[in-house]
Amino acid sequence: MTDVTGTANPSTSGTSPGTPGTGRGTPGTPPAKPGLHPDAAHQAAVARLRRAYAAVPPDQPVRLAKRTSNLFRFTGDRRSAGLDVSAFGHVLGVDPASRTAVAGGMTTYEDLVDATLRHDLMPLVVPELKTITLGGAVTGLGLESSSLRNGLPHESVIEMEILTGDGQVVTAADGNSRGALYRGFPNSYGTLGYALSLSIELEPVAPFVHLRHFRFDNPDACLEAVARVAQDGSLSGHRADFVDGTAFSLDEMYLTVGAFSDVAPWLSDYTRERIYYQSIRGPKEDFLTIRDYLWRWDTDWFWCSRAFGLQNSVIRRAWPRRYRRSDTYRRLVALDQRYGLSATMNARRGRPDREFVTQDVEIPVERGAEFLRFFADRVGMSPVWLCPLRLRSDRAWPLYPMRPGQVYVNFGFWGTAALPPGAADGHYNRQIEDQVAALGGHKGLYSTSYYSEDEFSQRYNGAAYAELKRDYDGDGRLPTLYEKCVTVQ
Ligand SMILES: Cc1cc2nc3c(=O)[nH]c(=O)nc-3n(C[C@H](O)[C@H](O)[C@H](O)COP(=O)(O)OP(=O)(O)OC[C@H]3O[C@@H](n4cnc5c(N)ncnc54)[C@H](O)[C@@H]3O)c2cc1C
Repeated sequence: MTDVTGTANPSTSGTSPGTPGTGRGTPGTPPAKPGLHPDAAHQAAVARLRRAYAAVPPDQPVRLAKRTSNLFRFTGDRRSAGLDVSAFGHVLGVDPASRTAVAGGMTTYEDLVDATLRHDLMPLVVPELKTITLGGAVTGLGLESSSLRNGLPHESVIEMEILTGDGQVVTAADGNSRGALYRGFPNSYGTLGYALSLSIELEPVAPFVHLRHFRFDNPDACLEAVARVAQDGSLSGHRADFVDGTAFSLDEMYLTVGAFSDVAPWLSDYTRERIYYQSIRGPKEDFLTIRDYLWRWDTDWFWCSRAFGLQNSVIRRAWPRRYRRSDTYRRLVALDQRYGLSATMNARRGRPDREFVTQDVEIPVERGAEFLRFFADRVGMSPVWLCPLRLRSDRAWPLYPMRPGQVYVNFGFWGTAALPPGAADGHYNRQIEDQVAALGGHKGLYSTSYYSEDEFSQRYNGAAYAELKRDYDGDGRLPTLYEKCVTVQ
Protein backbone atom coordinates (compact mmCIF):
# COMPACT_ATOMS: atom_id res chain seq x y z
CA MET A 1 0.00 0.00 0.00
CA THR A 2 1.33 3.43 -0.90
CA ASP A 3 -0.02 6.40 0.94
CA VAL A 4 -1.02 9.55 -0.87
CA THR A 5 2.39 11.03 -0.42
CA GLY A 6 3.93 7.95 -1.98
CA THR A 7 5.34 6.44 1.20
CA ALA A 8 5.33 2.68 1.44
CA ASN A 9 3.15 1.32 4.21
CA PRO A 10 4.47 -2.11 5.12
CA SER A 11 1.34 -3.09 7.05
CA THR A 12 -0.74 -3.43 3.91
CA SER A 13 1.89 -4.07 1.26
CA GLY A 14 2.30 -7.30 -0.63
CA THR A 15 -0.91 -7.12 -2.65
CA SER A 16 -0.51 -8.61 -6.09
CA PRO A 17 -0.66 -6.28 -9.06
CA GLY A 18 -3.58 -6.16 -11.47
CA THR A 19 -2.82 -7.00 -15.11
CA PRO A 20 -1.04 -4.05 -16.62
CA GLY A 21 -1.88 -2.85 -20.10
CA THR A 22 -5.17 -4.68 -20.45
CA GLY A 23 -6.74 -1.53 -21.84
CA ARG A 24 -9.08 0.91 -20.19
CA GLY A 25 -12.45 -0.45 -19.40
CA THR A 26 -11.30 -3.99 -20.07
CA PRO A 27 -11.42 -6.10 -16.97
CA GLY A 28 -7.94 -7.27 -15.99
CA THR A 29 -7.08 -9.61 -13.14
CA PRO A 30 -9.48 -8.77 -10.33
CA PRO A 31 -7.67 -6.53 -7.89
CA ALA A 32 -6.18 -8.11 -4.83
CA LYS A 33 -8.28 -7.41 -1.76
CA PRO A 34 -6.36 -5.12 0.53
CA GLY A 35 -7.31 -5.13 4.19
CA LEU A 36 -8.84 -1.92 5.46
CA HIS A 37 -6.19 0.50 6.56
CA PRO A 38 -5.17 -0.38 10.12
CA ASP A 39 -3.79 3.12 10.70
CA ALA A 40 -3.80 3.83 14.45
CA ALA A 41 -5.30 7.31 14.08
CA HIS A 42 -8.19 5.87 12.07
CA GLN A 43 -8.80 3.13 14.62
CA ALA A 44 -8.78 5.68 17.43
CA ALA A 45 -11.32 7.80 15.51
CA VAL A 46 -13.55 4.74 15.07
CA ALA A 47 -13.43 4.04 18.80
CA ARG A 48 -14.26 7.69 19.58
CA LEU A 49 -17.20 7.68 17.20
CA ARG A 50 -18.53 4.47 18.69
CA ARG A 51 -18.42 6.00 22.16
CA ALA A 52 -20.09 9.20 20.93
CA TYR A 53 -22.86 7.17 19.30
CA ALA A 54 -23.39 5.08 22.44
CA ALA A 55 -23.66 8.29 24.49
CA VAL A 56 -26.61 9.66 22.48
CA PRO A 57 -29.86 8.98 24.39
CA PRO A 58 -31.77 6.19 22.60
CA ASP A 59 -34.79 8.39 21.89
CA GLN A 60 -32.77 11.21 20.33
CA PRO A 61 -32.43 11.12 16.52
CA VAL A 62 -28.90 11.00 15.09
CA ARG A 63 -27.45 12.64 12.00
CA LEU A 64 -24.05 13.03 10.40
CA ALA A 65 -22.48 16.39 11.23
CA LYS A 66 -20.95 17.03 7.78
CA ARG A 67 -19.84 20.31 6.25
CA THR A 68 -21.47 19.60 2.88
CA SER A 69 -24.50 17.79 1.54
CA ASN A 70 -26.07 17.11 -1.82
CA LEU A 71 -29.45 16.13 -0.47
CA PHE A 72 -32.42 18.03 -1.80
CA ARG A 73 -34.64 17.61 1.21
CA PHE A 74 -34.22 20.64 3.36
CA THR A 75 -36.23 19.90 6.44
CA GLY A 76 -34.48 18.02 9.18
CA ASP A 77 -35.09 17.14 12.76
CA ARG A 78 -33.58 19.93 14.83
CA ARG A 79 -33.54 17.74 17.94
CA SER A 80 -31.05 15.40 16.30
CA ALA A 81 -27.57 14.82 17.69
CA GLY A 82 -24.85 15.46 15.11
CA LEU A 83 -22.10 12.84 15.04
CA ASP A 84 -18.71 14.43 14.37
CA VAL A 85 -17.36 12.43 11.43
CA SER A 86 -14.64 14.85 10.38
CA ALA A 87 -11.99 12.20 11.08
CA PHE A 88 -13.37 10.11 8.21
CA GLY A 89 -12.96 12.70 5.49
CA HIS A 90 -9.63 11.85 3.91
CA VAL A 91 -7.88 9.31 1.72
CA LEU A 92 -6.09 6.62 3.70
CA GLY A 93 -4.08 5.09 0.88
CA VAL A 94 -3.76 4.52 -2.86
CA ASP A 95 -2.09 1.39 -4.16
CA PRO A 96 -1.12 1.74 -7.83
CA ALA A 97 -0.04 -1.90 -8.02
CA SER A 98 -3.42 -3.38 -7.16
CA ARG A 99 -5.26 -0.29 -8.47
CA THR A 100 -7.16 0.20 -5.27
CA ALA A 101 -7.70 2.98 -2.77
CA VAL A 102 -8.90 3.11 0.81
CA ALA A 103 -10.69 6.26 1.95
CA GLY A 104 -12.79 7.53 4.83
CA GLY A 105 -16.53 7.35 4.19
CA MET A 106 -16.86 11.14 4.23
CA THR A 107 -14.03 11.78 1.78
CA THR A 108 -15.19 14.05 -1.01
CA TYR A 109 -14.65 12.85 -4.55
CA GLU A 110 -12.64 16.04 -5.11
CA ASP A 111 -10.04 14.88 -2.58
CA LEU A 112 -10.26 11.26 -3.70
CA VAL A 113 -9.71 12.15 -7.35
CA ASP A 114 -6.78 14.43 -6.51
CA ALA A 115 -5.14 11.54 -4.67
CA THR A 116 -5.74 8.93 -7.37
CA LEU A 117 -4.89 11.13 -10.38
CA ARG A 118 -1.41 11.52 -8.91
CA HIS A 119 -1.02 7.86 -9.85
CA ASP A 120 -2.83 8.22 -13.22
CA LEU A 121 -5.80 6.36 -11.77
CA MET A 122 -9.43 7.26 -11.06
CA PRO A 123 -12.36 5.65 -9.25
CA LEU A 124 -14.43 3.67 -11.76
CA VAL A 125 -17.29 6.16 -11.45
CA VAL A 126 -16.80 9.77 -10.32
CA PRO A 127 -20.08 11.62 -9.59
CA GLU A 128 -19.86 15.10 -11.04
CA LEU A 129 -20.35 17.26 -7.98
CA LYS A 130 -17.07 17.78 -6.13
CA THR A 131 -18.43 17.47 -2.60
CA ILE A 132 -20.33 14.23 -3.08
CA THR A 133 -18.57 11.85 -0.72
CA LEU A 134 -17.60 8.25 -1.30
CA GLY A 135 -19.96 6.99 1.44
CA GLY A 136 -22.75 9.26 0.17
CA ALA A 137 -22.43 8.01 -3.42
CA VAL A 138 -22.42 4.37 -2.30
CA THR A 139 -25.38 4.64 0.04
CA GLY A 140 -27.20 7.15 -2.22
CA LEU A 141 -26.43 5.69 -5.65
CA GLY A 142 -24.19 7.99 -7.64
CA LEU A 143 -23.62 7.65 -11.36
CA GLU A 144 -21.75 9.36 -14.15
CA SER A 145 -20.71 9.12 -17.76
CA SER A 146 -18.56 6.03 -17.16
CA SER A 147 -21.61 4.18 -15.79
CA LEU A 148 -22.42 2.45 -19.06
CA ARG A 149 -19.02 0.77 -18.80
CA ASN A 150 -18.54 0.59 -15.06
CA GLY A 151 -21.98 0.53 -13.48
CA LEU A 152 -22.56 2.36 -10.20
CA PRO A 153 -20.03 3.42 -7.53
CA HIS A 154 -21.01 0.65 -5.11
CA GLU A 155 -20.13 -2.00 -7.70
CA SER A 156 -16.44 -1.19 -7.37
CA VAL A 157 -16.41 -1.25 -3.58
CA ILE A 158 -14.30 -4.12 -2.30
CA GLU A 159 -15.24 -3.77 1.33
CA MET A 160 -16.68 -1.26 3.77
CA GLU A 161 -16.23 -0.60 7.45
CA ILE A 162 -19.66 0.36 8.79
CA LEU A 163 -20.91 1.73 12.11
CA THR A 164 -24.28 0.01 12.19
CA GLY A 165 -27.45 1.38 13.73
CA ASP A 166 -27.01 -0.96 16.69
CA GLY A 167 -23.59 0.52 17.45
CA GLN A 168 -21.33 -2.26 16.12
CA VAL A 169 -18.45 -1.61 13.73
CA VAL A 170 -18.35 -4.33 11.08
CA THR A 171 -16.50 -5.02 7.86
CA ALA A 172 -18.92 -5.83 5.06
CA ALA A 173 -17.71 -7.47 1.86
CA ASP A 174 -19.45 -9.53 -0.78
CA GLY A 175 -19.69 -13.09 0.47
CA ASN A 176 -18.41 -12.51 4.00
CA SER A 177 -20.55 -12.90 7.11
CA ARG A 178 -21.79 -9.32 6.56
CA GLY A 179 -22.40 -9.89 2.85
CA ALA A 180 -26.10 -9.09 3.16
CA LEU A 181 -25.25 -5.65 4.59
CA TYR A 182 -22.70 -5.08 1.79
CA ARG A 183 -25.35 -5.78 -0.83
CA GLY A 184 -28.13 -3.93 1.00
CA PHE A 185 -26.14 -0.80 1.79
CA PRO A 186 -26.65 0.88 -1.63
CA ASN A 187 -29.87 2.91 -1.48
CA SER A 188 -30.12 2.66 2.31
CA TYR A 189 -29.22 6.36 2.79
CA GLY A 190 -27.56 5.95 6.15
CA THR A 191 -30.55 4.17 7.72
CA LEU A 192 -28.69 0.92 8.39
CA GLY A 193 -25.42 2.54 9.41
CA TYR A 194 -22.62 4.83 8.29
CA ALA A 195 -19.65 3.80 6.12
CA LEU A 196 -16.48 4.88 7.95
CA SER A 197 -13.99 3.61 5.40
CA LEU A 198 -14.21 1.89 2.04
CA SER A 199 -11.74 0.17 -0.21
CA ILE A 200 -12.46 0.60 -3.89
CA GLU A 201 -11.14 -0.39 -7.29
CA LEU A 202 -9.49 2.18 -9.56
CA GLU A 203 -8.83 2.30 -13.29
CA PRO A 204 -6.05 3.86 -15.34
CA VAL A 205 -6.62 7.18 -17.09
CA ALA A 206 -4.98 9.09 -19.94
CA PRO A 207 -4.09 12.76 -19.41
CA PHE A 208 -6.87 14.06 -21.69
CA VAL A 209 -10.40 13.32 -22.81
CA HIS A 210 -11.36 13.85 -26.44
CA LEU A 211 -15.05 14.81 -26.59
CA ARG A 212 -17.38 14.67 -29.56
CA HIS A 213 -20.90 16.11 -29.38
CA PHE A 214 -23.41 14.32 -31.65
CA ARG A 215 -26.63 16.20 -32.41
CA PHE A 216 -30.08 14.55 -32.79
CA ASP A 217 -33.30 16.22 -33.82
CA ASN A 218 -35.68 13.76 -32.14
CA PRO A 219 -35.68 11.60 -28.99
CA ASP A 220 -36.02 8.29 -30.85
CA ALA A 221 -32.84 8.84 -32.84
CA CYS A 222 -30.99 9.92 -29.71
CA LEU A 223 -32.09 6.93 -27.63
CA GLU A 224 -31.33 4.54 -30.50
CA ALA A 225 -27.83 5.96 -30.57
CA VAL A 226 -27.50 5.26 -26.83
CA ALA A 227 -28.45 1.64 -27.48
CA ARG A 228 -25.80 1.47 -30.24
CA VAL A 229 -23.12 2.84 -27.94
CA ALA A 230 -24.12 0.26 -25.33
CA GLN A 231 -23.69 -2.48 -27.91
CA ASP A 232 -20.58 -1.28 -29.76
CA GLY A 233 -18.71 0.72 -27.12
CA SER A 234 -18.39 3.57 -29.65
CA LEU A 235 -20.41 5.98 -31.77
CA SER A 236 -19.46 6.72 -35.39
CA GLY A 237 -16.03 5.28 -34.67
CA HIS A 238 -15.41 7.43 -31.55
CA ARG A 239 -14.62 5.22 -28.54
CA ALA A 240 -17.07 5.68 -25.67
CA ASP A 241 -14.99 5.63 -22.51
CA PHE A 242 -17.58 8.13 -21.31
CA VAL A 243 -21.03 9.01 -22.58
CA ASP A 244 -23.74 11.39 -21.43
CA GLY A 245 -26.19 13.72 -23.12
CA THR A 246 -28.05 17.01 -22.92
CA ALA A 247 -31.58 17.63 -24.21
CA PHE A 248 -32.25 21.32 -24.80
CA SER A 249 -35.58 20.50 -26.46
CA LEU A 250 -37.14 17.56 -28.26
CA ASP A 251 -35.51 18.66 -31.51
CA GLU A 252 -32.13 19.65 -30.09
CA MET A 253 -30.42 16.87 -28.18
CA TYR A 254 -26.76 15.91 -27.93
CA LEU A 255 -24.84 12.84 -26.92
CA THR A 256 -21.34 13.64 -25.76
CA VAL A 257 -18.95 10.77 -26.24
CA GLY A 258 -15.55 10.99 -24.52
CA ALA A 259 -12.46 8.94 -25.32
CA PHE A 260 -9.30 8.88 -23.22
CA SER A 261 -6.51 10.51 -25.21
CA ASP A 262 -2.75 10.82 -24.77
CA VAL A 263 -2.67 13.96 -26.90
CA ALA A 264 -4.71 17.16 -27.04
CA PRO A 265 -4.31 19.58 -29.98
CA TRP A 266 -5.98 22.23 -27.79
CA LEU A 267 -7.52 22.38 -24.33
CA SER A 268 -10.72 24.09 -23.22
CA ASP A 269 -11.25 25.49 -19.73
CA TYR A 270 -14.82 26.01 -18.52
CA THR A 271 -13.93 27.25 -15.07
CA ARG A 272 -13.45 30.76 -16.49
CA GLU A 273 -15.71 32.79 -18.79
CA ARG A 274 -17.03 30.01 -21.01
CA ILE A 275 -19.70 27.63 -19.80
CA TYR A 276 -19.46 23.90 -20.44
CA TYR A 277 -23.10 23.10 -21.18
CA GLN A 278 -23.28 25.89 -23.74
CA SER A 279 -20.18 24.55 -25.48
CA ILE A 280 -22.04 21.35 -26.30
CA ARG A 281 -24.01 23.18 -29.00
CA GLY A 282 -20.82 23.70 -30.99
CA PRO A 283 -18.11 23.20 -32.06
CA LYS A 284 -18.57 19.44 -32.34
CA GLU A 285 -15.23 18.48 -30.87
CA ASP A 286 -13.35 19.41 -27.72
CA PHE A 287 -10.45 18.40 -25.47
CA LEU A 288 -10.24 18.63 -21.68
CA THR A 289 -7.69 17.45 -19.15
CA ILE A 290 -9.00 14.40 -17.32
CA ARG A 291 -9.45 16.48 -14.15
CA ASP A 292 -11.41 19.19 -15.96
CA TYR A 293 -13.48 16.51 -17.66
CA LEU A 294 -14.44 14.90 -14.35
CA TRP A 295 -15.51 18.28 -12.92
CA ARG A 296 -16.94 19.76 -16.14
CA TRP A 297 -20.42 20.02 -14.62
CA ASP A 298 -19.43 21.28 -11.18
CA THR A 299 -18.45 24.87 -12.07
CA ASP A 300 -22.01 25.71 -13.12
CA TRP A 301 -23.79 22.89 -11.23
CA PHE A 302 -24.75 21.67 -14.69
CA TRP A 303 -26.72 24.77 -15.79
CA CYS A 304 -28.23 25.65 -12.39
CA SER A 305 -25.80 28.55 -11.77
CA ARG A 306 -27.95 30.60 -14.15
CA ALA A 307 -30.51 30.98 -11.34
CA PHE A 308 -27.90 33.08 -9.49
CA GLY A 309 -27.15 35.23 -12.55
CA LEU A 310 -23.78 33.56 -13.01
CA GLN A 311 -24.28 33.10 -16.72
CA ASN A 312 -24.43 36.85 -17.15
CA SER A 313 -20.86 37.78 -18.13
CA VAL A 314 -20.67 40.81 -15.80
CA ILE A 315 -21.81 38.85 -12.73
CA ARG A 316 -19.62 35.92 -13.74
CA ARG A 317 -16.51 38.05 -13.85
CA ALA A 318 -17.32 39.55 -10.44
CA TRP A 319 -18.04 36.14 -8.84
CA PRO A 320 -14.70 34.79 -7.50
CA ARG A 321 -13.62 31.66 -9.35
CA ARG A 322 -13.13 29.73 -6.15
CA TYR A 323 -16.86 30.14 -5.43
CA ARG A 324 -17.98 28.90 -8.86
CA ARG A 325 -18.72 25.51 -7.39
CA SER A 326 -21.76 23.36 -6.83
CA ASP A 327 -21.43 23.42 -3.03
CA THR A 328 -21.60 27.24 -2.98
CA TYR A 329 -24.82 27.18 -5.02
CA ARG A 330 -26.31 24.41 -2.91
CA ARG A 331 -25.68 26.46 0.25
CA LEU A 332 -27.47 29.41 -1.36
CA VAL A 333 -30.46 27.22 -2.21
CA ALA A 334 -30.53 25.87 1.36
CA LEU A 335 -30.54 29.44 2.74
CA ASP A 336 -33.29 30.41 0.35
CA GLN A 337 -35.37 27.44 1.46
CA ARG A 338 -34.74 28.15 5.11
CA TYR A 339 -35.88 31.76 4.95
CA GLY A 340 -38.42 31.36 2.11
CA LEU A 341 -36.86 34.26 0.19
CA SER A 342 -37.88 33.43 -3.37
CA ALA A 343 -41.31 32.20 -2.28
CA THR A 344 -41.94 35.55 -0.55
CA MET A 345 -40.70 37.53 -3.55
CA ASN A 346 -42.84 35.47 -5.91
CA ALA A 347 -45.91 36.05 -3.78
CA ARG A 348 -45.24 39.81 -3.58
CA ARG A 349 -44.96 40.04 -7.33
CA GLY A 350 -48.17 38.05 -7.77
CA ARG A 351 -46.32 35.22 -9.52
CA PRO A 352 -47.47 31.60 -9.19
CA ASP A 353 -45.90 29.35 -6.56
CA ARG A 354 -43.16 27.09 -7.84
CA GLU A 355 -42.47 23.45 -7.09
CA PHE A 356 -38.97 22.05 -6.74
CA VAL A 357 -38.61 19.47 -9.48
CA THR A 358 -35.14 18.16 -8.75
CA GLN A 359 -34.86 14.48 -9.50
CA ASP A 360 -32.86 11.75 -11.18
CA VAL A 361 -34.83 8.87 -12.66
CA GLU A 362 -33.75 5.74 -14.55
CA ILE A 363 -35.78 4.48 -17.49
CA PRO A 364 -35.05 1.44 -19.69
CA VAL A 365 -33.44 2.76 -22.88
CA GLU A 366 -36.29 1.39 -25.02
CA ARG A 367 -38.78 3.65 -23.19
CA GLY A 368 -36.52 6.71 -22.83
CA ALA A 369 -37.99 8.64 -25.76
CA GLU A 370 -41.47 8.27 -24.25
CA PHE A 371 -40.21 9.71 -20.99
CA LEU A 372 -38.68 12.72 -22.73
CA ARG A 373 -41.93 13.45 -24.56
CA PHE A 374 -43.94 13.13 -21.36
CA PHE A 375 -41.52 15.44 -19.54
CA ALA A 376 -41.54 18.10 -22.28
CA ASP A 377 -45.33 18.01 -22.41
CA ARG A 378 -46.17 17.96 -18.69
CA VAL A 379 -43.26 19.67 -16.95
CA GLY A 380 -41.39 21.51 -19.67
CA MET A 381 -38.14 22.24 -17.82
CA SER A 382 -34.95 22.26 -19.86
CA PRO A 383 -32.21 21.27 -20.31
CA VAL A 384 -32.46 17.65 -19.17
CA TRP A 385 -29.34 15.56 -18.51
CA LEU A 386 -29.12 12.04 -19.96
CA CYS A 387 -26.70 9.47 -18.60
CA PRO A 388 -26.76 5.88 -19.84
CA LEU A 389 -25.92 3.17 -17.33
CA ARG A 390 -25.91 -0.58 -16.94
CA LEU A 391 -25.07 -2.71 -13.93
CA ARG A 392 -21.47 -3.83 -14.08
CA SER A 393 -22.13 -7.23 -12.60
CA ASP A 394 -24.75 -9.83 -13.36
CA ARG A 395 -26.26 -9.67 -9.88
CA ALA A 396 -28.94 -7.23 -8.80
CA TRP A 397 -28.69 -5.10 -5.65
CA PRO A 398 -31.66 -5.69 -3.38
CA LEU A 399 -32.73 -2.15 -2.44
CA TYR A 400 -32.55 -0.63 -5.91
CA PRO A 401 -33.90 -3.23 -8.27
CA MET A 402 -32.19 -2.56 -11.61
CA ARG A 403 -32.11 -5.56 -13.93
CA PRO A 404 -28.66 -6.92 -14.78
CA GLY A 405 -27.87 -6.53 -18.49
CA GLN A 406 -30.58 -3.91 -19.05
CA VAL A 407 -29.41 -0.54 -20.39
CA TYR A 408 -31.09 2.37 -18.59
CA VAL A 409 -30.91 6.08 -19.17
CA ASN A 410 -30.79 8.37 -16.16
CA PHE A 411 -32.67 11.60 -16.76
CA GLY A 412 -31.68 14.43 -14.41
CA PHE A 413 -33.63 17.67 -14.07
CA TRP A 414 -32.91 20.23 -11.42
CA GLY A 415 -34.93 23.36 -10.85
CA THR A 416 -38.46 24.59 -10.23
CA ALA A 417 -41.64 24.72 -12.28
CA ALA A 418 -44.53 27.19 -11.93
CA LEU A 419 -47.60 25.56 -10.40
CA PRO A 420 -50.94 25.93 -12.19
CA PRO A 421 -53.66 27.77 -10.23
CA GLY A 422 -54.99 25.66 -7.36
CA ALA A 423 -52.18 23.07 -7.56
CA ALA A 424 -49.95 22.32 -4.58
CA ASP A 425 -46.46 20.91 -4.08
CA GLY A 426 -46.33 17.41 -5.48
CA HIS A 427 -48.28 18.32 -8.62
CA TYR A 428 -45.32 17.62 -10.93
CA ASN A 429 -43.37 15.20 -8.77
CA ARG A 430 -46.31 12.82 -8.41
CA GLN A 431 -46.88 12.76 -12.16
CA ILE A 432 -43.20 11.98 -12.65
CA GLU A 433 -43.35 9.15 -10.10
CA ASP A 434 -46.35 7.64 -11.90
CA GLN A 435 -44.77 7.92 -15.32
CA VAL A 436 -41.46 6.44 -14.14
CA ALA A 437 -43.37 3.44 -12.76
CA ALA A 438 -45.44 3.08 -15.95
CA LEU A 439 -42.24 2.94 -18.02
CA GLY A 440 -40.59 0.30 -15.81
CA GLY A 441 -38.07 2.68 -14.27
CA HIS A 442 -37.07 3.87 -10.79
CA LYS A 443 -36.37 7.10 -9.05
CA GLY A 444 -33.39 8.06 -6.91
CA LEU A 445 -34.26 9.09 -3.36
CA TYR A 446 -32.03 12.11 -2.65
CA SER A 447 -34.90 14.52 -3.21
CA THR A 448 -38.62 14.74 -2.44
CA SER A 449 -40.83 11.66 -2.85
CA TYR A 450 -44.56 11.18 -2.50
CA TYR A 451 -45.00 7.38 -2.48
CA SER A 452 -47.40 5.74 -0.08
CA GLU A 453 -45.68 3.37 2.36
CA ASP A 454 -47.01 0.32 0.51
CA GLU A 455 -45.91 1.52 -2.88
CA PHE A 456 -42.51 2.51 -1.52
CA SER A 457 -42.09 -0.91 0.02
CA GLN A 458 -42.99 -2.56 -3.27
CA ARG A 459 -40.66 -0.36 -5.34
CA TYR A 460 -37.62 -0.52 -3.05
CA ASN A 461 -37.87 -4.09 -1.77
CA GLY A 462 -39.33 -3.42 1.66
CA ALA A 463 -39.09 -7.10 2.63
CA ALA A 464 -35.30 -7.26 2.15
CA TYR A 465 -34.94 -3.89 3.85
CA ALA A 466 -36.96 -5.00 6.90
CA GLU A 467 -34.61 -7.98 7.39
CA LEU A 468 -31.53 -5.78 7.21
CA LYS A 469 -33.09 -3.25 9.57
CA ARG A 470 -33.84 -6.01 12.06
CA ASP A 471 -30.29 -7.38 11.82
CA TYR A 472 -28.38 -4.08 11.97
CA ASP A 473 -30.64 -1.57 13.69
CA GLY A 474 -33.05 -3.72 15.68
CA ASP A 475 -33.89 -0.96 18.17
CA GLY A 476 -34.58 1.56 15.42
CA ARG A 477 -31.92 4.12 16.46
CA LEU A 478 -31.82 5.36 12.88
CA PRO A 479 -34.94 6.33 10.89
CA THR A 480 -36.38 3.88 8.41
CA LEU A 481 -35.75 4.45 4.70
CA TYR A 482 -39.37 5.52 4.23
CA GLU A 483 -39.21 7.98 7.12
CA LYS A 484 -35.97 9.46 5.86
CA CYS A 485 -36.77 9.69 2.17
CA VAL A 486 -40.52 10.34 2.13
CA THR A 487 -41.86 11.62 5.43
CA VAL A 488 -38.51 13.36 6.07
CA GLN A 489 -37.35 13.02 9.63
C1 LIG B 1 -28.89 18.60 -7.91
C2 LIG B 1 -28.32 17.22 -7.68
C3 LIG B 1 -27.73 16.58 -8.72
C4 LIG B 1 -27.19 15.32 -8.52
N1 LIG B 1 -26.56 14.77 -9.55
C5 LIG B 1 -25.90 13.65 -9.35
C6 LIG B 1 -25.15 13.12 -10.39
O1 LIG B 1 -25.15 13.64 -11.47
N2 LIG B 1 -24.41 12.01 -10.19
C7 LIG B 1 -24.44 11.42 -8.98
O2 LIG B 1 -23.73 10.46 -8.81
N3 LIG B 1 -25.23 11.84 -7.99
C8 LIG B 1 -25.93 12.96 -8.14
N4 LIG B 1 -26.68 13.44 -7.13
C9 LIG B 1 -26.99 12.58 -5.98
C10 LIG B 1 -25.90 12.40 -4.96
O3 LIG B 1 -24.93 11.49 -5.43
C11 LIG B 1 -26.54 11.76 -3.72
O4 LIG B 1 -27.46 12.69 -3.19
C12 LIG B 1 -25.49 11.40 -2.67
O5 LIG B 1 -26.10 10.61 -1.66
C13 LIG B 1 -24.89 12.64 -2.07
O6 LIG B 1 -23.81 12.28 -1.26
P1 LIG B 1 -23.20 13.24 -0.15
O7 LIG B 1 -21.90 12.66 0.13
O8 LIG B 1 -23.25 14.66 -0.56
O9 LIG B 1 -24.14 12.93 1.07
P2 LIG B 1 -25.18 13.81 1.85
O10 LIG B 1 -25.95 14.65 0.90
O11 LIG B 1 -24.52 14.46 2.99
O12 LIG B 1 -26.10 12.65 2.41
C14 LIG B 1 -26.92 11.89 1.57
C15 LIG B 1 -27.49 10.73 2.36
O13 LIG B 1 -26.48 9.76 2.49
C16 LIG B 1 -26.24 9.48 3.86
N5 LIG B 1 -24.80 9.35 4.00
C17 LIG B 1 -23.85 10.26 3.71
N6 LIG B 1 -22.63 9.74 3.96
C18 LIG B 1 -22.84 8.49 4.38
C19 LIG B 1 -21.96 7.45 4.78
N7 LIG B 1 -20.64 7.59 4.83
N8 LIG B 1 -22.52 6.27 5.15
C20 LIG B 1 -23.85 6.08 5.13
N9 LIG B 1 -24.71 7.03 4.78
C21 LIG B 1 -24.21 8.23 4.40
C22 LIG B 1 -26.79 10.65 4.64
O14 LIG B 1 -27.23 10.24 5.92
C23 LIG B 1 -27.94 11.07 3.76
O15 LIG B 1 -29.10 10.33 4.01
C24 LIG B 1 -27.26 14.68 -7.27
C25 LIG B 1 -27.88 15.32 -6.21
C26 LIG B 1 -28.39 16.59 -6.42
C27 LIG B 1 -29.03 17.30 -5.27
